[in-house]
Amino acid sequence: MSPLPPSTMNAALDEELRALDMAGLKRSLRQVHQRRAGTVRLNDERVADFASNDYLGLAADPRVADAARAVLQTEGTGAAAARLISGNHPLHESLEYALARLKGCDRTLLFPSGYMVNVGAIPALADRGDVIYSDALNHASLIDGCRLSHATVRVFPHNDLAALEQMLERERHQYRRALIVVEGVFSMDGDCCPLDQLVPIARRHQAWTYVDDAHGTGVLGATGAGSLEHFGVSGQIDVVVGTLGKALGTAGAYVGGSRELVEFLVTRARSFIFTTGSPPAMAAATLEALRIAQSEGWRREAVRERARHVRTRLREAGFTPTGDDDSHIVPLVVGDPARTMAMVTDLHHRGFLVGGVRPPTVPAGTSRLRLSMSAVHPLELVDALATTLIERLHGS
Ligand SMILES: *Cc1c(COP(=O)(O)O)cnc(C)c1O
Repeated sequence: MSPLPPSTMNAALDEELRALDMAGLKRSLRQVHQRRAGTVRLNDERVADFASNDYLGLAADPRVADAARAVLQTEGTGAAAARLISGNHPLHESLEYALARLKGCDRTLLFPSGYMVNVGAIPALADRGDVIYSDALNHASLIDGCRLSHATVRVFPHNDLAALEQMLERERHQYRRALIVVEGVFSMDGDCCPLDQLVPIARRHQAWTYVDDAHGTGVLGATGAGSLEHFGVSGQIDVVVGTLGKALGTAGAYVGGSRELVEFLVTRARSFIFTTGSPPAMAAATLEALRIAQSEGWRREAVRERARHVRTRLREAGFTPTGDDDSHIVPLVVGDPARTMAMVTDLHHRGFLVGGVRPPTVPAGTSRLRLSMSAVHPLELVDALATTLIERLHGS
């Protein structure tokens, strides 16, 4: 036998990694732990955390952890099977019921993550011969869901509903089903899709609406139900998606809508069918997080107040963050990816952890800092972030 030839993989990957590094696009992991009161430990230092999506400050709430602990003790760690086999715990259904009440829809269905909702539900709803209209700034999981669907995908300019309606007028008749896919609050721009305007357009053209409300859930609306409540369209959106790992501080996600929708997805969404049910203790934790989010409305006010403060200070200093005025996501476009990441590192040295967002997460030329606010950030810390950021922006 001739000797086994060497694998060529490592050399090939190394070449690609070098090119990515040169372009400022190589990504790497950092260790973050001991989350408390809007701060975390990063390496060995405590820094203010403006990079996480813990909008209501529930990710480290001891009451949420206690709820999980109680169920861990009696029910163990894992669901042990897919929910359709033997992994459907009563707590999964209690949580689905609570989420349906929050969202004002008939039913919801839990998934282990928001990414999995989108790569499962979109392909279940649209297939060859159908068309999906997708906002240009949709999250990667929505883009991947569209790609997996085999439907024709048409991208419309960000939040340009007039352009969307023109596309529907011109081409809707060529397809069987049409699905319009948007985010409630766009995660990288911090602005909202005007859902009250979207619904009539969709209905006029017999298109279905799919709203990923990952960032609105728990934060927007009078009761924290999210973007649908904020725009007064609860019950009018065909498919609504929410994540539990952001404002609610736990993990997992859900899709909500009619009984028919949920029954259909249970049978047709592959990322629901072929995956282990999420840990029952996580459902218990989320039920407690929901209870706190609803009974402590001050958290929603506090996160908005902090966002308004940073935006006002930045604007007074001559900088223009993107997004809606009281949006809890405050993006500042820098442009160049390497410069963006240099600013992230520099802010870290000054005690602030902020997000640096580069392509392909955002379009080329729009690399940005992403500041996300939390109800538990002390106001002085928010003000100190604004001061440091303004100094750094003036200095570069
Ligand atoms: C975070 C996010 C997701 C993914 O949710 P996970 O539960 O973290 O997988 C999906 N869609 C949008 C818009 C998001 O921001």
